[in-house]
Amino acid sequence: MYPFDTPPPENPTLEMLLDTIHERRPQTDLTMVKLAYEFADEAHQGQIRKSGVPYIIHPLCTAITLAKMNMDPTIVVAGLLHDVPEDTSVTIEEIEKNFGAEVAHLVAGVTKLGKIKYRGIERYIENLRKMFVAMAEDIRVVIIKFADRLHNLHTLEHLQPKKQYRIALETLEIYAPIANRLGMGEMKGQLEDLSFKYVFPKEYAWVRGLVEERYEKKEAYINEIRLRLEQELNASGIKFISVEGRLKRLYSLYQKLLKHDKNIEKISDLLALRIIVNDVADCYATLGIIHKLWRPLPGRIKDYIAQPKPNGYQSLHTSVFCEKGQVVEFQIRDEQQHINAEYGIAAHWSYDEADPDTNKSRQLRWVRELAAVGDAMERLKDLENLKIDIFQNRIFVFTPKGDVIDLPENATPVDFAFAVHTQIGNQCAGARVNDRIVSLDQPLKSGDVIDIVVDKTKRGPSADWIKFVKTNHAKGCIKQYAKRSLSDWIKAALPSRGK
Ligand code: MN
Repeated sequence: MYPFDTPPPENPTLEMLLDTIHERRPQTDLTMVKLAYEFADEAHQGQIRKSGVPYIIHPLCTAITLAKMNMDPTIVVAGLLHDVPEDTSVTIEEIEKNFGAEVAHLVAGVTKLGKIKYRGIERYIENLRKMFVAMAEDIRVVIIKFADRLHNLHTLEHLQPKKQYRIALETLEIYAPIANRLGMGEMKGQLEDLSFKYVFPKEYAWVRGLVEERYEKKEAYINEIRLRLEQELNASGIKFISVEGRLKRLYSLYQKLLKHDKNIEKISDLLALRIIVNDVADCYATLGIIHKLWRPLPGRIKDYIAQPKPNGYQSLHTSVFCEKGQVVEFQIRDEQQHINAEYGIAAHWSYDEADPDTNKSRQLRWVRELAAVGDAMERLKDLENLKIDIFQNRIFVFTPKGDVIDLPENATPVDFAFAVHTQIGNQCAGARVNDRIVSLDQPLKSGDVIDIVVDKTKRGPSADWIKFVKTNHAKGCIKQYAKRSLSDWIKAALPSRGK
């Protein structure tokens, strides 16, 4: 169920890869995969990984991860070949001759991305930009890169400490946030936890210790709650696919601890129960049953099904007072929402080709979820081009610290200011784009670095900004302020009548 949780197999074989594909896609013709394996094995002949194993183990593990993610065979084949042009004398042209243009294009993309080397914070933005360019061209390249990075992180112990740190830091700062943006929750979590150990070793040991200690105490309790809920669901005739305890990931726990005085007692979602059901109606029915059994904490019910997160994530979350007054968080979603939460954008390539009708409905659903990211998606007709179009009408700009903000095409510095923080939008007085002062209505371009000049004496946004802002968020903020100041004005102008 959680393909990245398990470390890579110690002695991976071609059979393992073929079995993994066959289990998920029984109809797949495995000839190409076998040929790609032989081709890569031959090309990497004599090369040894730092860990002392033959080089082919690395592309093989990368391909197994992609197969576990249910990626289509083209992507798996590209995964097997991904290091061939970089590390051997075999060229992209030869790959194209043997495996076709699509595979060659993917391998070339991964090779190009491999040339991005992180060199300190000053090149951070430059690297990020290259990553986004690769993504806009073909997101599958980035998915292969994630699988590649995952195996490199699993075998990081064999490298020099300096290199370990560089790769882990790059993963934390660039790869994981992108995986998150693409809605690949499991991938993001794994990338973070594997890097955490190397970037913050002391903090990692501390958090891990905390979790192990608490987990022992909580495990039995959570199991009781799980059984109680399963009973109740059965009694109500709600069929569930699974109910399982879910431990919070170490790195995200660490970040939460930093916000809560480093006090683990304040973290209520350390161990959550995740319930997977058949459809959305059952999600809400399950929520009702939980609230009938246990009293919900006020303000902690989150309906990400009706209002998905910007990356497409959908689930119901609630925290309740369970037996013995303990707070337990529940996450409820249907199966497709679960697959999307784990694989995000990658789920788009994981359809069962044998059933085109299911594919169609799943694709549309996936697009609908993405529609929440940007209204440009509504115009999307050709689903084949989804990989390019997702980012085509979005731009990525940066704060002076290097945080990425994504905005619709032609967004202005005012949209940016509101996207960063409402207060910054309200007090926005000027803007510098790439160190040049610009007018507040100037359209931004991907890669711009924007510095907002704030006037602390300013009480709210100018009403005429409404004419040029592009985001609904900025529009909403400006309108809301105008309404409020108008009613203030009316109140001040009208003599109080009393009651
Ligand atoms: Mn590699």
